[in-house]
Amino acid sequence: MAFEGLSDRLQETIKKIKGKGKVTEQDVKEMTREVRLALLEADVNFKVVKDFVKRVRERAVGQEVMESLTPGQQVIKVVKEELTDLMGGDESKIAVAKRPPTVIMMVGLQGAGKTTTTGKLANLLRKSYNRKPLLAAADIYRPAAIQQLQTLGKQLDMPVHEEGTDVDPVDIATNAVAKAKEEHHDYVLIDTAGRLHVDGELMGELQRIKEAVNPDEIFLVVDAMTGQDAVTVAESFDEQLDVSGVLLTKLDGDTRGGAALSIKAVTGKPIKFAGMGEKLDQLETFHPERMASRILGMGDMLTLIEKAQTQVDEKQAKELESKMRNASFTFEDFLEQMEQVKNMGPLDEILNMIPGANKMKGLQNVSFDDKQIVHVEAIIQSMTKNERQDPSLMNASRKKRIAKGSGTSVSEVNRLLKQFEEMKKMMKQMSNTKGKKGKGMKFP
Ligand code: GDP
Repeated sequence: MAFEGLSDRLQETIKKIKGKGKVTEQDVKEMTREVRLALLEADVNFKVVKDFVKRVRERAVGQEVMESLTPGQQVIKVVKEELTDLMGGDESKIAVAKRPPTVIMMVGLQGAGKTTTTGKLANLLRKSYNRKPLLAAADIYRPAAIQQLQTLGKQLDMPVHEEGTDVDPVDIATNAVAKAKEEHHDYVLIDTAGRLHVDGELMGELQRIKEAVNPDEIFLVVDAMTGQDAVTVAESFDEQLDVSGVLLTKLDGDTRGGAALSIKAVTGKPIKFAGMGEKLDQLETFHPERMASRILGMGDMLTLIEKAQTQVDEKQAKELESKMRNASFTFEDFLEQMEQVKNMGPLDEILNMIPGANKMKGLQNVSFDDKQIVHVEAIIQSMTKNERQDPSLMNASRKKRIAKGSGTSVSEVNRLLKQFEEMKKMMKQMSNTKGKKGKGMKFP
């Protein structure tokens, strides 16, 4: 994920101050100096860093005393609050027009991920908010842009309004809004043209579209990988169009994250969503507070829970719970579980959202190789139905057959069987202690 370097450095810094029973002015000075370097190295805008450090220093020195926290913890609390503030404070919502459809204009430079993000946003609106969006193809210049949107529409099973490349984009946008009204779509997402660089002609066209459709939101899509350039691009689009929010793409890459931390401070416009991958479900609402937690290694349980909720069917979850309780959990269930976890994203990304997980002994040196999951899946898939239900059937020749069928080894099969038995034992213990005060499972 982005921010890895920044995150490591900030965590190193706060570790030093965390346990302190007394924090001197000198301690704060040293800490903020390290924070400053970490931010600059993460490519955060120079002026933004200067203001940030000044605020942290002032607040940390004149610290209000809270009984529940050690002085060291209080300083960390200040850093977290300031980091949250820097990225936008309260989480920002998406507009809903009084009279539908809500019109969203998507703008940005070519290659930023505008078309993909338009599809992702439509998907998110439907999945999380139960909306019925119409997509509109108003980029008539980039070869294949219309086709790309149509492909996305097909994948999402969502209608796309297009009029080819010979019609004025202003008319396409206007017609799309009229069509959305007629066909009772509550949102219309207009994918506009991009250019390699900001230019007057492009801005003129975007301004004309804006005047014609009077959008409820103008979302600027910027590529986090472009670092400081992303901030400059945001500034000039905002000057010309007064955008309402920023959608930051490619935060999954190993960018240094500086753009995410500077855009709000420089433009005053909030980051509303973050693209975390190329797939259509990899767009997350940008929650500054949760992001600050993630950066400081405090985890992001809320996003993890939300992800789980969109992937896990409630009925299935209930069934699973009862199976766990009476220990009738089988390899079939295990396989299903793995599918769901896999849908949530790469394992180490998920792990990053669990508070303290990245610093947990034992987990630090484990590399979460998604390939291992593929092996486990292959092993289970090579079992017969009976074997999946009742692993006690497994004898040497069966194990050999399974290893061969899955392209693994007998020792890998044995390892999985052992792990599965241990897991079942643990479930039994958990269900036995259920209800008894003070026992049961706890998050770290
Ligand atoms: P447009 O020219 O702005 O419309 O850009 P596209 O939507 O065609 O996207 C350009 C490239 O960026 C495509 O290969 C996308 O798959 C990729 N992309 C978009 N968003 C993300 C993201 O959040 N993460 C990653 N890794 N790739 C992305």
